[in-house]
Amino acid sequence: MKIFSSVGFNSVNDPKDIAVVRYLLGIQMTNQPFNLMMAPLTVSPQNVFNNQANNVVSIKDIIIAIKNFQEQILWQIRPTGQIFPDDVTFKKLSSGNFYHPKHYVRSKSEDPVITPGIEPRIDEVSEQFFAYTGKTLIITSGYRGPERQAKAMFDKVNDTSGANSGNDKIFDKIILDSYMAYADKRSSKEIYDQMVESRKKHIDAKTKLINNTAMYQRDATQKMAEVISKQIANGIYISKHATNKAFDCSVNNLKGSDIIILKLLVKNLGGKTPDEITGPPHIHIQF
Ligand SMILES: [Zn+2]
Repeated sequence: MKIFSSVGFNSVNDPKDIAVVRYLLGIQMTNQPFNLMMAPLTVSPQNVFNNQANNVVSIKDIIIAIKNFQEQILWQIRPTGQIFPDDVTFKKLSSGNFYHPKHYVRSKSEDPVITPGIEPRIDEVSEQFFAYTGKTLIITSGYRGPERQAKAMFDKVNDTSGANSGNDKIFDKIILDSYMAYADKRSSKEIYDQMVESRKKHIDAKTKLINNTAMYQRDATQKMAEVISKQIANGIYISKHATNKAFDCSVNNLKGSDIIILKLLVKNLGGKTPDEITGPPHIHIQF
């Protein structure tokens, strides 16, 4: 976790940083996290926690908690009650040398692959997000190898209304929109060309409807995955998910202000949140 300016006595006291410090102090002192409800980011630091009727904490209380921590944990003779982003107090406080709960869950329906390559990023983002909002992130996608990437791209088209109506023009338009949404349109078209070919094989000549949807899906995604594998072998990654540098989280449990906070904190941590079209509504986060 990070803070970006000083907190406590005679400090900047940015509400976002206060939330992080308060959260960490809560863990350190009680060995379990506060169920922190973050106040709106525009509220002045002095009032930041006053709107929590059942759990009022003032800046004074935060300063006392910081002093206690510096006295009792760091053995400082003259505790300052002040924390800077990289000083010994914050390093100790955020060292993880205590109970460390995870603030994300895996989506059951999406069954994401969370590898050691991406987990520390998920942990960092979700921990900070929890400190700001008190909410847990639902991870819908982590690492995606060629098969998962192919399935995600297939589903995006297949789940669009009209894709299986038997109308070629509608299908072609959905395919076009889908590959145009990628930065590397040449590579995305190469992948979607396989879906187009596979559909031709699996539609009934008269009704223009898919004969066997399961076989169609298996055939199309297998061929799409083969193209993705070839691209990866040539150093082309249609998605950051294949490089262990991206993950997605559901928007189902988030409101608009949560999404703004999430995007801001990802930016502060050096990441990006570009729109991504594959899959159900989600926030795509990449580093
Ligand atoms: Zn994504």
